[in-house]
Amino acid sequence: MTSTLRIVTSVAQTSMAALRRLQQCQSTGITAVSHLHTSSRASADMHYKMLVLGGGSGGISMSARMKRLFGAENVAVVEPSETHYYQPIWTLVGAGAKTSASSARHTASVMPAGVKWVKSKVQEINPENNTIRTDDGKEISYEYLIIALGLQLHFEKIKGLPEGFEHPKIGSNYSIQTVEKTWKALKDFKAGNAVFTFPNTPVKCAGAPQKIMYLSDAYLRKTGKRNEARVIYNTSLPVLFGIKKYADSLWDIVKQRDLQINLRQNLIEVRADKQEAVFENLDKPGETTVFEYEMLHVTPPMGPNLIVKSSPLGDEAGWLDLDKDYLQHKKYPNVFGIGDCTNLPTAKTGAAVAAQSAVLSRTISMILKNQKPDKIYDGYTSCPLVTSYKSVILAEFDYNGQPLETFPINQAKESRIMYHMKADVMPHLYWHGLLRGLWGGPGPYRKLMHLGMK
Ligand SMILES: Cc1cc2nc3c(=O)[nH]c(=O)nc-3n(C[C@H](O)[C@H](O)[C@H](O)COP(=O)(O)OP(=O)(O)OC[C@H]3O[C@@H](n4cnc5c(N)ncnc54)[C@H](O)[C@@H]3O)c2cc1C
Repeated sequence: MTSTLRIVTSVAQTSMAALRRLQQCQSTGITAVSHLHTSSRASADMHYKMLVLGGGSGGISMSARMKRLFGAENVAVVEPSETHYYQPIWTLVGAGAKTSASSARHTASVMPAGVKWVKSKVQEINPENNTIRTDDGKEISYEYLIIALGLQLHFEKIKGLPEGFEHPKIGSNYSIQTVEKTWKALKDFKAGNAVFTFPNTPVKCAGAPQKIMYLSDAYLRKTGKRNEARVIYNTSLPVLFGIKKYADSLWDIVKQRDLQINLRQNLIEVRADKQEAVFENLDKPGETTVFEYEMLHVTPPMGPNLIVKSSPLGDEAGWLDLDKDYLQHKKYPNVFGIGDCTNLPTAKTGAAVAAQSAVLSRTISMILKNQKPDKIYDGYTSCPLVTSYKSVILAEFDYNGQPLETFPINQAKESRIMYHMKADVMPHLYWHGLLRGLWGGPGPYRKLMHLGMK
């Protein structure tokens, strides 16, 4: 074992032990619920003091925290999926470094014990009368609501998709249905263009569209095919990455490795039968370029969750309209939100969810005590930019795009230890820390180091 791996493993082991200690200490004590508002529960089929919509990263971590605040019997989570996925690992699944099975657990196994799992889809949210309706016709009323519905993928907005995925040579790390197709396209690569895309919309984990490019480049080098390949990143953005400190390092890497970056190029059509991808130049609308490909990785356009968008809770674009400091809805004080479905002006990541979960928990506990929330979310988010099978640049920053780094090293430099953090430590912290409401708060990596030192 290398010394860096030993350090990471030891941090992971001490952190897990600390998490277990924390878990043993925390009781499920009830905090008195004050009446900020009233709920109409007369006609509803079910009623919960705390209702959580969505059982992804934000929904499960908040339900664990809310169980401690309200008691398990007072909390319910509405989530239709039988399987819960740790999406960040899909980057490595698409590159053949992890299996897709390693990203999945039964939803039942991550649901906090005693919390009610309503296995349905939310169809409608009615904040005026504090109810929601599910697709199987149930009406559920609530006193407090947390919305954690994630965002919507829109493969269908690209002509030729999603049906194009039935052809080989094309994949996407953004969905469990298509992530293994990325690995197959990479494994089967012979010669030609390997094309990677970034859409003209907000996305979750804005680094993921290029991480798979670096991994593919590394794989093609390892297998002796790199001389036969042209590696091309066509991005809608005018920059390679939004934060200059990290973008500067990434530009150095793409130059060294001969990766072609084309800015302001937006994928609009895939002709999968001909292995052609059509891009529009966003600076010259109507001007298109056709790229033949031997491998295509698609990052789909993304948008607000459609249920939020069609409710009175969305902003003009449809994202959940929250106070950016306290994560409380701007119009409905008993409604809160977390994660990708929100309009918080920061990068949408699981690390942001971890930071938000502690702030939101504090906001709600203060409101229950009729006190003013006192913990402010600074926009902390993080993106481990995987640059090969053994290196990561760990970007961490706040609402203002200012780096908020954890480690006493230059995090803009490629680091092997950060790769192990991403590939080996973070999944454990996710399953055993974040989802149990035991890990989070401003600077989750900082918290990890703190736990590791206890
Ligand atoms: C390829 C990839 C790589 C990534 N890499 C990283 C990374 O390295 N680091 C990082 O921090 N983050 C990363 N992320 C981002 C991270 O996974 C997300 O930001 C995080 O999962 C957001 O959590 P969430 O709870 O907001 O949404 P999700 O975890 O997506 O959960 C939303 C939940 O809502 C449910 N839902 C949707 N509609 C309804 C409905 N109508 N009714 C009921 N339930 C519904 C869904 O089934 C889902 O369970 C990556 C994501 C991808 C796809």
